[in-house]
Amino acid sequence: MLRKPLATALLAALCMSGATAFAADKEINIYSARHYQTDEALYETFTKKTGIKVNRIEAKEDELLERIRNEGANSPGDVFIAVDASRLAFADQQGIFSPVKSKVLEARIPAHLRASNWFSYSTRARIIVYNKTMVKPEQVQTYEGLADPGLKGQVCTRSGSHPYNLSLGAALIQHDGAAKTEEWAKGIVSNFARAPKGGDTDQIKAVAAGECGVAIANSYYLARLMNSSKAEDQAVVANIVAVWPNQKSWGTHINVSGAGMLKHSPNKEAAVKFLEYLASDEAQVYFADGNNEWPVVEGVKLSNPALEKLGPFKADTLPIQKLADTVGEAQKIFDRAGYR
Ligand code: FE
Repeated sequence: MLRKPLATALLAALCMSGATAFAADKEINIYSARHYQTDEALYETFTKKTGIKVNRIEAKEDELLERIRNEGANSPGDVFIAVDASRLAFADQQGIFSPVKSKVLEARIPAHLRASNWFSYSTRARIIVYNKTMVKPEQVQTYEGLADPGLKGQVCTRSGSHPYNLSLGAALIQHDGAAKTEEWAKGIVSNFARAPKGGDTDQIKAVAAGECGVAIANSYYLARLMNSSKAEDQAVVANIVAVWPNQKSWGTHINVSGAGMLKHSPNKEAAVKFLEYLASDEAQVYFADGNNEWPVVEGVKLSNPALEKLGPFKADTLPIQKLADTVGEAQKIFDRAGYR
């Protein structure tokens, strides 16, 4: 990798409003839309191993994307980290990434979890939780089944336009087709126990409280409640049953946290090193466990009681790039179906 001549680097540094200059490849600038306690250790270990200092800019995706756009070719950003394939897809559509070729990443991250311009580093599952006093187990084993008229007035989800549901919609389109997915979205809407509100944890709590018979939520929200020492969280867990959806068909829909190198990265060598580091055994543990997720690298062991208790499951192996490419279609279908 060519290093920028010093004059160019200095000029670039001077062009950045209010930013400080940095020496090429001795520092790296991470734009991260995820921030967990374990991220601290994640970055420190990288610095210890490589001597490369990590500067973190943490903000919401939209803010980071706007910043990257405004900074343009002078952006000091090297790596962008975000959660959810649909958000990474949106970032990718803005043309912010530069594709990375790396034997290490190809060897460590399964092919279906590598997108064209970014990599997945942890997975989360979109699961079903139900209240056994309100619905029968056989009614709630698949995503498709949640649209069945037999569940009228029972279903709760967060907004249909939320990235988590759009990604699920994209998976449904890929497996069941667009027409069936539109019918599905209409069915979900007509089965609502209430209009979508709140986050996934709110749906789980509403199921425990008997306000909804069944809900969809990301696995880490449940794991968080399971690992909580608060009595009220334990009471929620005691009142719900979790299901791995679609075990007899295409598997449970999974989503990812991911990262990629930014197009104008001034420290490309360090950026690739960092992306490769994220796939190391050590980093995988921090990365995944920081949010009760699963590592993407085979054989990396977590010590997370909730994830252990939830046990193994059959995960969807749909290529993440295909999922990302279908999110826009899911949005249109959900809009037409009134799933908002
Ligand atoms: Fe979340």
